[in-house]
Amino acid sequence: MQRVVDKKADQVTVRRLNMSAILRLLRERGTLARADLAKELGMTRNTASNIVTDLLQAGLVIETEFRRAGAGRPGLLLEIAPNGGFAVGVEIDISRIIVIAADFNGEILWEQSTAISKEQTRDACIATAELLVQDVLTWGKSEGFKPLGIGLGLAGLVDAENGMLTYAPTLNWREVPFKALWEKRFEIPVYLDNEANTSALGYFTYSDRSKARNLAYLSIGIGMAAGLMLEAHLFHGSNGFAGQAGHIKIRTDGAVCSCGDRGCWVTEVSIAALQRKANLTEVDLDAVGKALRDKDPKLTPIADEMAEMLGLGIANLVNLLNIDTVVLGGAMRPILPYMLEKARSTVDARSLNQPRANTRIKVSGRDNDSVFGAACLVLDSIMNDPVPLVRSML
Ligand SMILES: [Zn+2]
Repeated sequence: MQRVVDKKADQVTVRRLNMSAILRLLRERGTLARADLAKELGMTRNTASNIVTDLLQAGLVIETEFRRAGAGRPGLLLEIAPNGGFAVGVEIDISRIIVIAADFNGEILWEQSTAISKEQTRDACIATAELLVQDVLTWGKSEGFKPLGIGLGLAGLVDAENGMLTYAPTLNWREVPFKALWEKRFEIPVYLDNEANTSALGYFTYSDRSKARNLAYLSIGIGMAAGLMLEAHLFHGSNGFAGQAGHIKIRTDGAVCSCGDRGCWVTEVSIAALQRKANLTEVDLDAVGKALRDKDPKLTPIADEMAEMLGLGIANLVNLLNIDTVVLGGAMRPILPYMLEKARSTVDARSLNQPRANTRIKVSGRDNDSVFGAACLVLDSIMNDPVPLVRSML
């Protein structure tokens, strides 16, 4: 009897893996014929065809007609259904809440944001976020699109596995069980991760899939964290808190950090570091960017020094992980282009040639990697395991 149960479980597992492989290949290639899918994935045509039929019925995949050059007979190509459903992405940072709806093609279908202030209580901020989520769900309903889930990116320590915000130092929130709260309220799956991880995932999923396999996304703002994609998967560490790059030790002396230690990377490279080094009462990044463009004599040496410390930390990451892509983003993005050259030359000088050889260092071209990646948490979970969705839709 046990054998029969196991066999059935094995079949579900194989089916899950095959479905996931087909969806991933379609997302990577855009369109493919059934026969090519089977061939590339080493499945029999029959197996591939059965799975495609389920995915078609569930509305996750659609057929598009094409005409092969010269052959005359039209053939059918498969692609991921753009309207198969949408993922809600939410980002809560120190000054605003952003909510988007994104589809499997990476298109942002809906977007709204609301400013929040330090004076607002935690519960008031969460209530504001809930109103925006309710708005996007209402929009989806009116358009006839199915909501697939909600992904949430937060700055701080996030227990992704249990869907709990453990500690957000900039917001000063502790122990918020978002997954439990929102799954009860909205009745769709909820996923959480920290904003550096969602940024890495968002960048990786749609910006650079073909080239990046080992990627570090450095999100630099008031604080600093790294989202690590290793071997094309987000790396969370043994209890979920990997990526605290800001607290890598970069000096034996140095300024006191919010963590209580001295000489952390974030005390040398961050908006707070800029404020301290330049003795500014408040930081207007656009104005600083403009000053750096005009080679301002006060700010340029400070930016150069920060760029060198940025490069020093990146050299450590390159030596340790042999990553192929380092992406710089976060709130400090407006001034990062002025630090890029110096950071790159420091990495060249301070890392080993062999791990450095293939590493590209760039500033992200978009300011919404994090909220977009939050939506990708939902899309990825479906890519990994489409079975429940297919079952509920058949
Ligand atoms: Zn620290």
